[in-house]
Amino acid sequence: MEIDTVENRSGPTTTLEKQMLVQWCMSAQFFSETVLQDNLKRILGEEHQETMQEIIDKLNSTLEQFSLALRSSMSQTSGERWWALISTNADGISMTASAYSAVELGILRQLIESVFTEPLGNYVIGLHQAVREATEKAPNSFSRREAQDLVMIFCRDGWLEIDDGKWVTIGQRACIELQQYLEDAYPEFIRTCGLCKEMATTGLVCGECGTFLHPFCADRLKSATTGALSCPECRQQLNSSDAFGPGKSGIPHSVKLDSTQAQD
Ligand SMILES: [Zn+2]
Ligand SMILES: [Zn+2]
Repeated sequence: MEIDTVENRSGPTTTLEKQMLVQWCMSAQFFSETVLQDNLKRILGEEHQETMQEIIDKLNSTLEQFSLALRSSMSQTSGERWWALISTNADGISMTASAYSAVELGILRQLIESVFTEPLGNYVIGLHQAVREATEKAPNSFSRREAQDLVMIFCRDGWLEIDDGKWVTIGQRACIELQQYLEDAYPEFIRTCGLCKEMATTGLVCGECGTFLHPFCADRLKSATTGALSCPECRQQLNSSDAFGPGKSGIPHSVKLDSTQAQD
């Protein structure tokens, strides 16, 4: 077949290749950039010349007609980029996480709210609390075991994440797919990293100006400066104990930080 010729392999993506990529994205739904790159090589050939951005743009122009799009966000701790196929006309959790039953969606919504609005500003709840809330939210009262299994399914699917075997926090997929929903539903709980400008649910805060930094972005700054870590906005030295996220002391949302410089 013509698409197997050498010219086509190193040239622009053919219609068939684009179709195969769209189909793969639709079945995979949520994947790391490493997995995406492996599949680009598998479908386009090792020698393909197109940049990730060119391919994503092409796929998104095809996906647009189905009200779908590929969006990404960076892992806040490792810096790895993750991608998800999202519904662009989704009005919240129900449209997006449509693989679940109404009861399961209600539980997921409840858990995301508990994690996101947790008063210490660590964006975590204990696994026991998550299981208890899931049990109570189910109309015919799940068994503890069923509730725990459901929490694990939400984690497996990337909506939530288990940290250190005992904390439940917001998952990578929720960071990508539910960003708009979270911004609309909980605007006062949203934090944005001063370096990469993506949503931050774990990291450091500058005690001086209130700028937030992801753990990965703080590491990136540290290795770029080779000295003490200072705030990218006000140059104040950052204190590693001013941290929020799983197992951290937290930055309560009730504490109003002067973040005017970080918001411009
Ligand atoms: Zn960042
Ligand atoms: Zn600062």
